Amino acid sequence: MNPTDTPHAVHDVVILGGGLAGLTLALQLRQRLPGLDILVLERRTHPVPEAAHKVGESSVEIQAHYLATVLGLKDYLEQKQLKKFGFRFFFSDRAMDIARVTELGASRVLPTPSYQLDRGLLENDLATLARERGIRFQDGSLVRNFTLGTRGGPHRVHFEVAGAAHAVECRWLIDAAGRAGLVKRRLDLAQGNAHDVNAVWFRIGARIDVNEWSDDPAWLARCTPPNRWLSTNHLVGPGYWVWLIPLASGSHSVGIVADATAHPLDRLNSFDKAMAWLQVHQPRLHQDLQGKRDKLQDFAFFKRFSYGCKQVFSGPDRWALTGEAGVFLDPFYSPGGDFIAIANTFITELIVQDRCGTDVARLASMYQRIYFLFYESMLPIYLGQYPLFGNAEVLPMKVLWDYTFYWGVMCQLFFQNRLTNVMAMARLQKSLTEAQRLNLAMQDFLRAWGAVSAGRNPAQMLDQASLPWFVELNRGLTDELDDAAFAERIEASLARLRLLAGQITALALAEHPALETSALEGLLPAPGAAVASSMLFGLDAAAA
Ligand SMILES: Cc1cc2nc3c(=O)[nH]c(=O)nc-3n(C[C@H](O)[C@H](O)[C@H](O)COP(=O)(O)OP(=O)(O)OC[C@H]3O[C@@H](n4cnc5c(N)ncnc54)[C@H](O)[C@@H]3O)c2cc1C
Repeated sequence: MNPTDTPHAVHDVVILGGGLAGLTLALQLRQRLPGLDILVLERRTHPVPEAAHKVGESSVEIQAHYLATVLGLKDYLEQKQLKKFGFRFFFSDRAMDIARVTELGASRVLPTPSYQLDRGLLENDLATLARERGIRFQDGSLVRNFTLGTRGGPHRVHFEVAGAAHAVECRWLIDAAGRAGLVKRRLDLAQGNAHDVNAVWFRIGARIDVNEWSDDPAWLARCTPPNRWLSTNHLVGPGYWVWLIPLASGSHSVGIVADATAHPLDRLNSFDKAMAWLQVHQPRLHQDLQGKRDKLQDFAFFKRFSYGCKQVFSGPDRWALTGEAGVFLDPFYSPGGDFIAIANTFITELIVQDRCGTDVARLASMYQRIYFLFYESMLPIYLGQYPLFGNAEVLPMKVLWDYTFYWGVMCQLFFQNRLTNVMAMARLQKSLTEAQRLNLAMQDFLRAWGAVSAGRNPAQMLDQASLPWFVELNRGLTDELDDAAFAERIEASLARLRLLAGQITALALAEHPALETSALEGLLPAPGAAVASSMLFGLDAAAA
């Protein structure tokens, strides 16, 4: 389709970039406002290659819910992508025998689903769906320039298709151009952060099944079904982690994410260098990959991939940034797709309200405040934490903590559809602020504990499926709650976080009484108030 062949050279919305963020936003907008005229301009020509396309392949609960339920793609995900067997962590630095190190993960699939996404396959299918639903998806079109409208006037976008120049106008302009960040660059919105971490990755046209790495029958019998390969497997060590993500096209994605000081990028930034590094740090993976060298499909890297942004939404000027055009934190817990879901949900509501004739200036700045609050609450989860990633005593506690915060607070707002409800958010402000304070204090505590802990790494499984409270927290994500039940849920989450903080700090202090806890004062349960049952795999009972 040539967009200028139609009489619609003026569009309601033009989206710059038709990757994951741009395509899903187009679908969400179309769903809310069926009459909206949406043009998506994507530089690449479709179909894009499967497997060796982009990173961002592991989804977690918010993104999974967004795709499956908000956009209605559940059947598609179940049939054409892979259902994920949660996160799994092996403390396998320099270890050849994976059965003899600590494993953290669930022995069975938890109730609320998430998926492994082959990005090429997904973007091809989303683009087809977008066209079927009447969205003007123009692939092979390179955005060359644009002018932002002044005094309420339309924006004007100039782009090129097969060497021919075109121009269109629009009321809303969306930057979904990923790291190219077109509006971001024009308005000088880029903002760094202190998180200095790099990543390299590649795809192999074969399966990598960690179950093939040991023939220990007890270790093999730990998981039901025995499908560890469907997990996002994290092979962790001091200052780094390695991801293994299976793709529906039959390939496997492998990535090394490392603190820039501990593992400089120039030791990782080619396939041969990455293999030499793996031979030292993850020898069992290296051995597996050696036999698959001829199946290498691509290799890429990003230096210092984490960043913030000065502004992501403008109500008065009717532009917005979504996806990597805005902020990006760290892939350790796969939050990239979550941030797309959250930004798109805010942008959709702004455009709906604008369409109803509401002045969205205030709303846009309120939504932006909430969006940045998510970013700021999550940055300390990663910042300065890489040194403890190899610690088999502290990281499991951190993962429990981070999940309890994510499922108990962040997911609740998204799953319960309260994110754009300004009144509900205002009512929750006190509890959310307290949860954020507690999280910040706990992240500092975990960092300090990581620095002194011996990091014992016994051959054991810390089975999240054996923790009834953890499984219930996951299951409860899909409950439907009215306002009163929702308020109770947030209070219960806060109480659970306090209890968990109390148990984690008590476990650490039993061995390291000098650890600083003053930042947690007033945030922990009163002494003696803690329930008898352990939230920590019984490790605290063992320590006592
Ligand atoms: C190392 C690493 C690992 C990650 N792992 C995960 C993960 O496991 N799970 C997760 O959820 N997230 C992950 N992420 C984040 C994830 O990759 C991003 O959230 C996601 O890919 C961003 O999608 P997007 O649509 O914003 O950008 P993109 O997918 O990059 O899409 C932008 C589109 O804009 C187009 N474009 C750019 N310039 C122009 C132009 N001038 N004209 C027209 N089109 C243009 C591009 O062709 C592209 O298709 C990871 C990120 C990194 C760095």
